Amino acid sequence: MKKIGLLTSGGDASGMNAAIRAVVRTAITYKMKVVGFKKGFLGLIKDYALEMDSKSVSGIICQGGTILHTTRCPEFKEKKGRAKAIDVINKHKLEGIVVIGGEGSMRGLAELIEDSGIAGIGIPGTIDNDIFGTDYAIGFDTAVNVAVNAIDNIRDTATSHERLFLVEVMGRHAGYIAIFTGIASGVEDCLVPETISHIDILIDKLKAGHKRGKESSIVIVAEGDDAGGAFDIEKKIRKKTAWETRVSVLGHIQRGGRPTAIDRINASRLGVAAVEALKNGVTTKMVGLDKDDIAFVDLEDVWSKKKELSSEYIRMVDILST
Ligand code: ADP
Repeated sequence: MKKIGLLTSGGDASGMNAAIRAVVRTAITYKMKVVGFKKGFLGLIKDYALEMDSKSVSGIICQGGTILHTTRCPEFKEKKGRAKAIDVINKHKLEGIVVIGGEGSMRGLAELIEDSGIAGIGIPGTIDNDIFGTDYAIGFDTAVNVAVNAIDNIRDTATSHERLFLVEVMGRHAGYIAIFTGIASGVEDCLVPETISHIDILIDKLKAGHKRGKESSIVIVAEGDDAGGAFDIEKKIRKKTAWETRVSVLGHIQRGGRPTAIDRINASRLGVAAVEALKNGVTTKMVGLDKDDIAFVDLEDVWSKKKELSSEYIRMVDILST
């Protein structure tokens, strides 16, 4: 294989740049050329191409976001849209492609492989970490660290004023960020989409904690919790108590920022593995981590199977807040 394409797609995640750098430098090691496409699949359709040499990825390992930029591209879901991308692939004589992105991007890659016959490997990049077939996705560790730092700050105010804080973190369909952040910052409870949330049980738990002498309470709410977002939960608590409650929605601060060492290292590992897989004739797979080992999963499994949040973590939140 002499020339491969590279793009980032879907939501951005810290560590994507480390993966870009690893793809480019691994390809150079094996005497392959890399053409980067800006703005995800849109860039592939519109030919927003740039030749990437070793220098083009200098100094990016410590930057959040993605130097290739990313978009959502509805046109790529249509065969007609992908046909334009295939013209661009042929123009550049690409034999392989690496796509860094979430579940939707892996689906887009699979459709592209099916339509064009190009070899392709996906790399999981999504802060929610809810992508099937890998224990790790790029950006998750940074997002959790950002949220933990924010909650440590909120704890100071919560304790000084003896207040209840409801902190909303990202996670429309998955509670990974909420649970990991919760365990790391020692919160009283985590409300996540994977379990049914009962406001009465939450209130009893917080009352019991107060009786034991807790000076402040922090509850993390994943944005997609079945009982609603943090503001909805606050309203429900207000109806049943006279507690002074504050809400903080962390929002987009969780996406960006300097990637943690873990995100830089794992993203680099996945980038190296993706190019080596293409070189060895592997295609139509996503490369991820099975615990700490590089593992490949069929692209189709990525969107047709659901990754479950381990009940061990859910149980731990209860035990540790006792
Ligand atoms: P993520 O990759 O973060 O899950 P999206 O679900 O928005 O984000 O998907 C990113 C892009 O992948 C979409 O904008 C589209 O270009 C492409 N994509 C998603 N689903 C499909 C599909 N079923 N067929 C082809 N392309 C798709």
